[in-house]
Amino acid sequence: MNEQTKKVNKKKFIIMLTALLAIVITVLSSSYVIFNELEEQLQQNLEDVATQNALALHNKIHSNYELLQSLSKNMHDVTPDNITEKLRSFEIFLDEYDLKRFAYSFPDGTSYSTDGGVAELSYREFFQRGMKGKATITGILKDALEEHHDLVNVMTIPIFDNSGAVEGVFGLTYNSQNFNDALQIESFDGQGYSCAINSDGQILVAMGNDILQLSENIFTDVLGVDQRNTEAVAKLQKQMAESTSDGGTFYLTEKNYYHCVPVKLMGDDVTWYMLTIIPADVLESRAAPVQHSLYLMAFIVSIFILIGVAFVIFLSREQKQIMLRYAYEDPLTKGANYASFCVEMNKKRVPQGYMVSMDITNFNNINIAAGKTAGDRMICDIWQILTDELQSEELAGHVREDVFSVFFKTEDKKLLITRLKQISTRINKRARESQVKGIHSRYGIYEMRGTEEPEDAYSKAQIAREQARIQREQNYVFYNEIDHERLQQDQQLEERFEDSLAEGDFEVWYQPKYSAATGEVVGSEALVRWRDKDGSLISPGRFIPLFEQNGMIAKLDEYMFRAVCIQQTRWLANGQKIYPVSINLSRASLYYVDIVEKYKAIMQEYKIDPDYIQLEITESALEGMSSIQELLKQFRDMGIRILMDDFGTGYSSLATLNMQCFDTLKLDKSLIDHIGDKNGETLLYYVISMGQKLGLHITAEGVENRIQLEFLKKNHCDDIQGFLFAKPMPAVEFENILAHS
Ligand code: C2E
Ligand code: MG
Ligand code: MG
Repeated sequence: MNEQTKKVNKKKFIIMLTALLAIVITVLSSSYVIFNELEEQLQQNLEDVATQNALALHNKIHSNYELLQSLSKNMHDVTPDNITEKLRSFEIFLDEYDLKRFAYSFPDGTSYSTDGGVAELSYREFFQRGMKGKATITGILKDALEEHHDLVNVMTIPIFDNSGAVEGVFGLTYNSQNFNDALQIESFDGQGYSCAINSDGQILVAMGNDILQLSENIFTDVLGVDQRNTEAVAKLQKQMAESTSDGGTFYLTEKNYYHCVPVKLMGDDVTWYMLTIIPADVLESRAAPVQHSLYLMAFIVSIFILIGVAFVIFLSREQKQIMLRYAYEDPLTKGANYASFCVEMNKKRVPQGYMVSMDITNFNNINIAAGKTAGDRMICDIWQILTDELQSEELAGHVREDVFSVFFKTEDKKLLITRLKQISTRINKRARESQVKGIHSRYGIYEMRGTEEPEDAYSKAQIAREQARIQREQNYVFYNEIDHERLQQDQQLEERFEDSLAEGDFEVWYQPKYSAATGEVVGSEALVRWRDKDGSLISPGRFIPLFEQNGMIAKLDEYMFRAVCIQQTRWLANGQKIYPVSINLSRASLYYVDIVEKYKAIMQEYKIDPDYIQLEITESALEGMSSIQELLKQFRDMGIRILMDDFGTGYSSLATLNMQCFDTLKLDKSLIDHIGDKNGETLLYYVISMGQKLGLHITAEGVENRIQLEFLKKNHCDDIQGFLFAKPMPAVEFENILAHS
């Protein structure tokens, strides 16, 4: 995994973690908010229930109080003698109001009850309060009027005589249990607890949750359980002293919420407090479903996020693979491209073998002659041939167009050459099948010793391939066999070219052509010479192939063409008799589409008669280039004659003689050199006569001796160009020849 990928993965991990953290925080905070809201809701609920309970308590007690009040009207002037009877008349209310008894106490404390009991109750607080003119309702007391001492609550009111003095205390007694049951106190489905307490904290009535174990005094009970309740008890006591309704929490076996509501009873003579308590787990049980759904939601969202992240990772992997494919797959061959080739080469720890840069000569011809699709098909077939020929641990890559990189694992130079020849043969065969001429493979080879980077090795192989372009003997060049000094000089020549052109360092030399029959000058060929800084001349053989290779030749040819036009015009203007001058045009110049228009414009600029300008094109320039005929036709239409240069070198084709776009055939020196041997002479004889039969003018080049001249004359060769008559010379010298012609 590279650094970039690690970084991206780390980023994704952080994003995922942040998302999950955000969910956890959201869930926790919403859970907290919900819990708080529910708590508030519960407290409000608790308050409502406590208020309702207080009201129920008040109503219950008040109805009994009113009963007591109304019955008390009959209690004036009672005596120990009539009291029993009086009380008996009230018995009918006992059942209806669920009461245990009515009783009456005389000022001495002697008390009589409806159930016949008599007791001395002056010690009872309710009696004492009654005698002070106050109504009372007690907490739970042990019944003093019966043997079993059941638990009871007693309600009493004072009975006033006409003077307003207390003449007795009248009261009723509840069975505590019944009293409790009658109070329909709501207690949160049994989970809560409600009690009525007095200002001392004494529990007067209670019902609900037994677990709370509150039995006698709320303050002491609560404080006895947990010290944290001190504050709560103080708060409760303060609230009770101020007689306000309020709530809070205290801790018993667990946390509890309470709400306390004051209840005014007995014509405000008594204040009780209704305390309703609920354990905190009621809140939790209420919150639980909400929280559960929240957790569930968070869980689902987290799962979605995880799935999302996994999906994104999956997608980005796919994307990466697609990008890798785009980066490393050659769109045409669907095989490895150069980048992929280098990556694979880099994986080899000590690559020993040969790095080869291969290309195809004149590949463009296929595109021009057979179309781009055929060209593409050819590339794919060449790729197929290459991959077929590869052995294990060998690699190939498609660099661009007709260029390929290949790594051969062998260390045997001879074997390598044999394998390259095998590839060449297969490619040539394939080219022949497409009927495209001039297609050969070329190889630049660099021997790798396991120390250099593949890119460096390949660029050296490429330099070697460039050399293979220039030399024609064989189609491969080994980098270590290249004349590097010469390569450097080439570079210097290339660098100097533009300046030399601008400074006029390129000179036009003329080599005259003579009529074979009369020996008179009939024309000349313009040949370029490069004047070096030290005054010496650089011959075209040194730089023309170089410039042909890098495309600079087109500029030079144009320069020469213009210079000849200028010279011819000048000679004419000087009253000089002039002859046609042929100018060499390289194959590379012919690639420029607007060459005809350009040359035409130059001729028009100098108003030169096309009879005085000729163009020499080598036979090899025609290889595989079908559009050339059209181009030559355009020149000929302008009136310019076209000379086929160097006929007889390389693979001359008789078919080119019949292309009908030439006026003159220039027999190469290599043919002329064969004069003297029989076969050569026979060949020359036929070439000349065939050429002439096809209407071509024949010029012999490189004629150096009389024997050659005689042979050519005898065989009706038209013109002679060669050292026998004259070597190429500067314009001023040629001017002399013209002057005496
Ligand atoms: P080429 O066009 O075939 O020119 C004839 C070459 O043969 C000239 O060499 C000339 O000096 C040489 N030559 C002529 N008669 C004889 C002879 O009797 N014996 C010997 N040994 N050589 C003879 P040069 O001037 O060195 O040019 C070499 C080639 O460079 C030319 O061959 C031509 O292909 C190219 N060249 C020269 N000038 C230009 C130019 O302006 N543009 C282009 N594109 N090519 C040029
Ligand atoms: Mg020539
Ligand atoms: Mg020639």
